[in-house]
Amino acid sequence: MLKRLVNEARVPVVIENRGPLLIKSGFATVTGPDMAPVVVQRNNRYEEYIPGSSLKGALRSHFERVAASLAGGRDIVCDPFARYERGRAPNNVNCGNRFQEEKKRHDKDKNACRPPNNEEAYRRSCPACRLFGSTWFIGRLSINDAYLAPESRARRERRDGVGIDRLTGGSSATAKFDLEVVGAGARFETEVQLRNFECWQLGALFMLLEDLRDGFIRLGSGRSRGLGDVACDYTRADVYRIGQTPPGVSDCQIPGLGCYLSDGAYGTEADDLLDVGKDGMPDPEQCGVRSRRRFEGERLQRLRSLAVARFTSRIAAYDELERA
Ligand SMILES: [Zn+2]
Repeated sequence: MLKRLVNEARVPVVIENRGPLLIKSGFATVTGPDMAPVVVQRNNRYEEYIPGSSLKGALRSHFERVAASLAGGRDIVCDPFARYERGRAPNNVNCGNRFQEEKKRHDKDKNACRPPNNEEAYRRSCPACRLFGSTWFIGRLSINDAYLAPESRARRERRDGVGIDRLTGGSSATAKFDLEVVGAGARFETEVQLRNFECWQLGALFMLLEDLRDGFIRLGSGRSRGLGDVACDYTRADVYRIGQTPPGVSDCQIPGLGCYLSDGAYGTEADDLLDVGKDGMPDPEQCGVRSRRRFEGERLQRLRSLAVARFTSRIAAYDELERA
């Protein structure tokens, strides 16, 4: 992918669990519960936290559902678990797997096909892989691990879990296990970053944050049992520009990746910019080689509605997946 960094957006986010939350550590403790929240050593003690990878996974699957709805039934998002099988390509085979298959075929027979270069891989990837990455390239969006906010404590609660008997569908006496969860009311802080973003991707980020804020995205294990009900809050978005502004972009416009790429090889659009208007654009602050614009209050709202509109129109116009 693009070697240079042209733009970046950063949004600090506070996540609060409104109900019990369990992000499993993956290890059963010897004497303690079978399932316990994941912890990290921090501030000279063990603290519960939410790994960035868990957050990213939950946001990705939510994004896939929303994009599929906006596309009106067309296959524009791949299935991360659908893999290429010999002689049969599922309609929505995972993008990274599709490219690996092409590389394999090329390695066997140099005339068969050519594995995609960086530009082609990005252009031919579904919107979810463009944003979140695939096994072929890293995505635009990354999320830091979310640590407990200062003054916030994670209260542990112990619960009984009941295994389901696979034969009768009733509860299984032998499969009873206990689990420990983080009780409601803990607050975790993190930051979401978008690097070299297209404007629709900024809109996707805001759509995800809005849905996370309104409780439409659950986190962790036991979601079908009512665990993982969270909400979030964010009050600003910092948009950075690195290096020269692309030609033809005015002071009221935020250029997306497409503005920097003139030849369209990445499948981006030449008019990839958001016009926030003179009043909507905060003054730039110079931070080293970057210029930062901090969007808060009404300006944040305006940026958000423009970006989300770009996201919905871009997804509605997205081409169906190219078949392998
Ligand atoms: Zn994909």
